[in-house]
Amino acid sequence: MKEYSIFIFYHKNNKNSFRAILGSLDKYELIQLFDFYFSSNLQKLFALIREKKSFYKQMFLMVSLMTSQFVEWTGYLKSIKAENLIKLAGGPHPSGLPLSLKGFFDFVFYKEAEVSLAEFLRNFVDNRNFIGTPGIIYWEAQKPVVNKHPGRININDFPPFSKRFKKYGPLEITRGCFFGCKYCQTPYLMDKEVRHRRVDVILKWVEEMFKSGMKDIRFITPNAFSYGSCDRKKVNKSAIYELLSGIRGIIGKQGRIFFGSFPSEVRPEYVDEDIVEIVSKFCDNENIVIGCQSGSNRILEFINRGHTVEDVMKAVNIVKKYGIIPVVDFIIGFPDENEEDIKKTIGFSERLIEKGAIVHMHYFMPLPGTPFWGKKPSPLSKDIFSWIGRYSSKGKIFGSIEKQYQFSQNIYDILRRIEFAL
Ligand code: SF4
Repeated sequence: MKEYSIFIFYHKNNKNSFRAILGSLDKYELIQLFDFYFSSNLQKLFALIREKKSFYKQMFLMVSLMTSQFVEWTGYLKSIKAENLIKLAGGPHPSGLPLSLKGFFDFVFYKEAEVSLAEFLRNFVDNRNFIGTPGIIYWEAQKPVVNKHPGRININDFPPFSKRFKKYGPLEITRGCFFGCKYCQTPYLMDKEVRHRRVDVILKWVEEMFKSGMKDIRFITPNAFSYGSCDRKKVNKSAIYELLSGIRGIIGKQGRIFFGSFPSEVRPEYVDEDIVEIVSKFCDNENIVIGCQSGSNRILEFINRGHTVEDVMKAVNIVKKYGIIPVVDFIIGFPDENEEDIKKTIGFSERLIEKGAIVHMHYFMPLPGTPFWGKKPSPLSKDIFSWIGRYSSKGKIFGSIEKQYQFSQNIYDILRRIEFAL
């Protein structure tokens, strides 16, 4: 048993963040200094901490949080305490609204944390000034202290996973987004600079994952068809070809590739016949997920999507032509969205469904760090819920709209109260 231990809340919504973090701890040769415990259940993780607390000189709790999770677990997060426990938080919610974590966590890692977390742990075990680590926020005499962020990493220099833990999953190929949709945290928390992982680096990891028994290759990217592109207006077809043909060359017929589908998606104006042909040649996708978000061009402009409803219809037709199912993402309940806009989204969704698309419906969340933070979600009438229910029962619409509706109201009410009380 080691002197130090790390307890990770390894929940399905946050696994991808921790995979990258473990990769960075591996890179900095920190893994061997700690015992690690993982649980996807917060109560079980806290029970484990209580059980193990007398065995370690110092324990660290690591939690990555989305805003909906923070709201869900607000009452519970403070319940774990031990003299030898330091509580660390990171992820989208702590980056967007770090001060809301006062009293819940000892240190907040804002924005990307591959460097700051590794440096913090190294400083701690080497008995150096760990509170001076760049990229963290903590409280001194109830006042927040914000240490300057160390800056963006070159993702080619950082492993997407830890080879020691072999906790493999979707491979991050692009970080950052050219666009600035007003409801989305990606460009505001990760900056608009887009960084792509090089093909040779990705192929090395695919080989590694495939050797360890992982047969399905999926990707993390805000817009799969932007891979390799340095300009939001230009699609880099040769980079996509090189990537997908290279992966197929490694995994042969024993593995499967999913590109432009869960957990990533594509923007409609990036869809053209050449790209979809490349996908259908090398990939196993049954579907391609297209981000639309509204059937009203007025709302698309208001939320700064940078495309039109017509672009979406064109993309759906191309995808269908190649025998792939278009799954189209929508969000309803944007601030100032009126009945007329919602009717347009309903009408447009029905047209897409007639064409053979499946609709993934979401409810708007006012997320911290975005231009829509603090904006009131527009309510939905009973008729909208019944319309969604009707199409859901036919398998044409899916999503957790009722749950999101509740979370969204809670984010608006609870978090704003916390923020104003700070
Ligand atoms: S919604 Fe997609 S395209 Fe828009 S800013 Fe976010 S990641 Fe970029």
